[in-house]
Amino acid sequence: MTTAGHVDASRVVNAMSIDVEDYFHVSVFDGIVPRSDWDRMESRVVRNTERLLEIFDEHEVRSTFFILGWVAERHPSLVKRIAEQKHEVASHGYFHRLVYDQTPRTFREDIRKAKSIIEDAAGTQVLGYRAPSYSITPRSLWALDILLEEGHEYDSSIFPIRHDRYGIPVSERLPYPIVRSAGTLIEVPGSTTRLGPLNLPVAGGGYFRILPYWWTRWGIDRVNRSEGRATIFYLHPWEIDPDQPRLSAGVLGRFRHYRNLDETEARLKQLLNDFRFAPMCEIVKRVPIDASANELQTSLPYLW
Ligand SMILES: [Zn+2]
Repeated sequence: MTTAGHVDASRVVNAMSIDVEDYFHVSVFDGIVPRSDWDRMESRVVRNTERLLEIFDEHEVRSTFFILGWVAERHPSLVKRIAEQKHEVASHGYFHRLVYDQTPRTFREDIRKAKSIIEDAAGTQVLGYRAPSYSITPRSLWALDILLEEGHEYDSSIFPIRHDRYGIPVSERLPYPIVRSAGTLIEVPGSTTRLGPLNLPVAGGGYFRILPYWWTRWGIDRVNRSEGRATIFYLHPWEIDPDQPRLSAGVLGRFRHYRNLDETEARLKQLLNDFRFAPMCEIVKRVPIDASANELQTSLPYLW
């Protein structure tokens, strides 16, 4: 502690996470690249993920890799390499289908298949899951029960913001336990900082790439310093690949996907110099799971 109510931000350890998927898996290209064409596309995910592994190695940072089952099935040696380098392997589902577009039955099949493929390739247990495009919303809260039943201990799919495709704006901003009949799942939301009535995303993906770097730096520092809490940073391998083939999409989709791809690697290195990071599991194990102490927090998603 430096002054009352503030902590030394350099002491807070944030979570680093990568969603391992190829550029054509991204939801914005759903309908443009059908799943039946995925095998015909030029694959760049191995090279891009290996580059991230090099960068993390240079900065002595360990991360969590939420791997798409479809990718793990085709590139088991990549999954093995991630695990061998002491990073955490976790699941991004198999087919990159939005949770709220699936039935409970297809969702169960999807996450079961992904978990099994990733665990076989890595030789370690998968405890965490992140939905494509943070698609656990008020319409798909049933997914939390299925995640628990299929052996997951934490989820990172509920973003406490307003967005056209995802988010539960009233949900908790900081990691919290969700008590369900099947057990207690730890939810680790995408990070935001509070500004007036709004939760503003500050740590990853398009927000990191499209907005100037000072935004991320200010936001993470604010959460670390004012709240003394970790942020959850996320990025995709394709975000450091400016040479990826260009696919057609709407104007907004193209802006979100292609903006500043050539700047992201340098920004990531700067970020790794500016803050401390560890895998998600390190943050998860510090979340108190005493349900009575978190009654309000655990009930919030169901009131929505
Ligand atoms: Zn994804």
